Amino acid sequence: MKNSSLDPEDWDQFRKSAHSMLDRALDAMQQSREGRVWTAPTSEFKSSLIAPIPSKGLNFKEIEDLLASVLPYGVGNTHPRFFGWVHGAGSPGNILAEIAGAAMNVNLGGRDHGAIYIEQQVLQWCNAMVGYPADASGLIVSGTSIATLIGLKSARDKYFNGESRTGGVASAQLVGYASEQSHSCLSRAFDILGLGSTALRRIPCDGNFRMDLNVLRERIETDRAAGLQPFIVIGTAGSVNVGAIDDLCNLSQIAEDESLWFHIDGAFGATAILSPEYGHLLKGIELSDSIAFDFHKWLQVNYDAGCILIKSREDHLKSFYGRAEYLNTVKRGLASGSPWPVDYGPELSRSFRALKIWAHFLEHGTEKLGAVITKNCNQARYLREQIKTSQYLELLAPVQLNIVCFRYLGRTVDDHDTFNENLVIELQESGIAAPSTTRINGKLAIRVNLTNHRTTCYDLDLFLKETVRIAQQLESNLT
Ligand SMILES: *Cc1c(COP(=O)(O)O)cnc(C)c1O
Repeated sequence: MKNSSLDPEDWDQFRKSAHSMLDRALDAMQQSREGRVWTAPTSEFKSSLIAPIPSKGLNFKEIEDLLASVLPYGVGNTHPRFFGWVHGAGSPGNILAEIAGAAMNVNLGGRDHGAIYIEQQVLQWCNAMVGYPADASGLIVSGTSIATLIGLKSARDKYFNGESRTGGVASAQLVGYASEQSHSCLSRAFDILGLGSTALRRIPCDGNFRMDLNVLRERIETDRAAGLQPFIVIGTAGSVNVGAIDDLCNLSQIAEDESLWFHIDGAFGATAILSPEYGHLLKGIELSDSIAFDFHKWLQVNYDAGCILIKSREDHLKSFYGRAEYLNTVKRGLASGSPWPVDYGPELSRSFRALKIWAHFLEHGTEKLGAVITKNCNQARYLREQIKTSQYLELLAPVQLNIVCFRYLGRTVDDHDTFNENLVIELQESGIAAPSTTRINGKLAIRVNLTNHRTTCYDLDLFLKETVRIAQQLESNLT
């Protein structure tokens, strides 16, 4: 009788294809330093995908070739000259963890099984990493955006003593505070939580792009005088634009004085705590009530993997606990082990992200992961010095952590914003490097973010040399 399950008819053939696919994946990772950074998806590639939903399956070899055909069209972040936005570069070890996790196919919403304990161990490590008490709470999630949502919901529900969970938020007009440089995921969280994105006050910054605490105090006072209810202040530890870290110690003091929840967006910056040289910049992070951060950025875990830590387990549970009767737990058996991860976040079905994070820490250890962060910060300083001594380039923001913002200043260029924007597109399309852009004090900047363990000084030299070469070419086309 024909095999009606989805398991292979021919395991030997499947095994052969699987081993071959593994080799092709490892080849791609091993060669990630070579070739182009970003390759735009070709029109042939895109049109090859357009097809009706298949009614009959393909064989293993065909599937393997199709999977391999996607490999060249990544974002480019595995390459040492990917400097755009804030992307981690990933590591080959993660491939093994993903294979092991796929073989288990567990659901981490809850119940009593091995994966749950691995997630708990990872969270313990994270508590220790940021200086939280061992009984602090947390959850592994897809990234800082979702982590932020969980942290901010816990803060919101604490303000309402849980009543917002059933009664909504109409009984008070909540407002919160973050710096003007804070990430868009914060106002999105305010939107999703029913508070409205304008309830997030974006406080101006000082010359180093850190929240101006005097303005913050005044704004809280004005809001209270207007009958609004301040409930949270959010510190940014590593801003996307320039890598600025707010004054966490004084923010914590203001939060205490004003009885506000103190949340930290440390998406990439919080992990700099592992760097012996730069970790001190995060002084005060342990004073927060919650921290959102990513493993997939500066810690180089493959996408996606983020974390929310909440100091008070009670506050965390009070915001999410509430299970249907068919999910009720018991003392023994597979349904034991309450509370479950579902009691700490919005998702019931959850993948085993914790496995690749756990294996990653075990493979590399915090010393080596911290050394990568130190290296990237030192590289940012090296790049800054090269830019400062260049007659063509202008530094646009102080280098605080790992981000360098600058622009090309051509003598014959009128519109520097458009020119530098085009320059970045040319660089990306050349395949040589992939910086991104941002605006600093109204000026368009070429933004180099270093959260890449593969980057070397050779890559930075080549990048600057090619930036100037392409810029001069563009400039000569202007005349
Ligand atoms: C990347 C980033 C986020 C969003 O994190 P995701 O993991 O992409 O959801 C939030 N804040 C900062 C500062 C970031 O750099």
